[in-house]
Amino acid sequence: VPPVSVFANSTAHWRHLDAAHHLHPFSDTKGLNAEGVRVITRAEGVYIFDSEGNRILDGMSGLWCSAVGHGRHAIVDAIADQLRQLDYYNTFFKTTHPGAAELAAAIAQVAPEGFERVFFTSGGSEAVDTVIRMVRHYWAAVGKPGKHIFIARKNAYHGSTIGGASLGGMAPMHAQGGLPIPGIVHVQQPYWWGEGGNMSPEEFGLFAAQEVARAIDEAGPENVAAFIGEPIQGAGGVIIPPSTYWPEVQKICRERDVLLVSDEVICGFGRTGEWFGCQHMGVQPDLITFAKGVTSGYFPLGGVIVGERVAEGLIEQGGEFHHGYTYSGHPGGCAAALATLKIMHEEDLVARVKCEIGPYLQERWLPLANHPLVGEARMVGLIGALELTPHKETRAKFPGEVGTVGLIARDISFREGLVMRAVRDSLILAPPFTLSEEEADDLIATVGRVLDQTLAVVRDRGLMGPPL
Ligand code: PLP
Repeated sequence: VPPVSVFANSTAHWRHLDAAHHLHPFSDTKGLNAEGVRVITRAEGVYIFDSEGNRILDGMSGLWCSAVGHGRHAIVDAIADQLRQLDYYNTFFKTTHPGAAELAAAIAQVAPEGFERVFFTSGGSEAVDTVIRMVRHYWAAVGKPGKHIFIARKNAYHGSTIGGASLGGMAPMHAQGGLPIPGIVHVQQPYWWGEGGNMSPEEFGLFAAQEVARAIDEAGPENVAAFIGEPIQGAGGVIIPPSTYWPEVQKICRERDVLLVSDEVICGFGRTGEWFGCQHMGVQPDLITFAKGVTSGYFPLGGVIVGERVAEGLIEQGGEFHHGYTYSGHPGGCAAALATLKIMHEEDLVARVKCEIGPYLQERWLPLANHPLVGEARMVGLIGALELTPHKETRAKFPGEVGTVGLIARDISFREGLVMRAVRDSLILAPPFTLSEEEADDLIATVGRVLDQTLAVVRDRGLMGPPL
């Protein structure tokens, strides 16, 4: 019997149930319950609406996933039609279904050349875990079982499963639950603004790439299976690497026969203005992980796109791959993805990100660096960040705990009707690809107000630090 309340269908009712029963991801439940959650009840286009009727621009596309925007009935209908026809069947034991076969082909069609095979999962973390097992199995199958170590980056996010969180380089995640698992080495991230010191971005890009070489050589290339990285680190703070970074990393991996894995859970399916972020960076990986944008968040689905070399080794020499998920290739997820891709093709949304709304927003976003609180404004396609600082020339940090000012700005932004996320003392943005020019203007005007109000609070609290 569901709980009955005189407050039924009210914000107070949902808050009460939520506080009593719901443990939220990445949340401090005690603090959250004290503050009270915001209840989101519906969404349309680039907007979400809360239970009090407030309209908020979804500047983060949900969690980077709502690429084609909210309220797309064509996707909803495709899922419903599919579930009415075939609600579920597995793809394990000599069976498939039309949606899984068609989606694998549709993904191969937009993937970089040489990527013809797709392994399905329910989301990004499972895709990353699949990579760990698949890559190690591949090396064993081709007679090099010693190659088992993964090189990843500090502050990277690759998901929340034990494998994904281990490959990720988030210190607070490693501090809980005995992570990382063995066989993973974390190296310098290509975060010039925060860690580039006196080097130019180009010098720093090469320096960060050389750290990959150093880690591989220290472990011994005969022991190293793969390097994994996001083309642009998303959850780590939209870290757009200097142009020198990825070509050098690719060269280093090729020279040492180390596989390159591009984690495209955020960048994949158009976010950077190319179908995949590796294409924007001009690199050819061996494996690609994806999730989020592929279904635009309408149904959980992710996977691994496997390049020629690994596919051939696995198929010809690997035998049975003892790995899979109940929902690998779920019919509902496949229908959602096929309908999402149809919209992306019909509305030419990837080109829209590259040539129209991406440049339009960038043109208005990058000058935000002139605001007294902003040290750097960066954006590729529709993924960007603003670095907040008390002193741009020295890229100084605010006094006190890192992240305080970021959270102040994030909360002001939410109140002003725009979802942005705070990472340390930066604000990050990744709106849906369907954002109109008018909505982009509105977004930029809101960011301006958010920065002004944040500056006032920061000054008021003495957080600008002593004058330099
Ligand atoms: N990899 C990257 C780069 C991500 O950004 C994420 C999620 O944000 C994941 C993996 C994990 O995906 P999921 O949350 O679908 O498990």
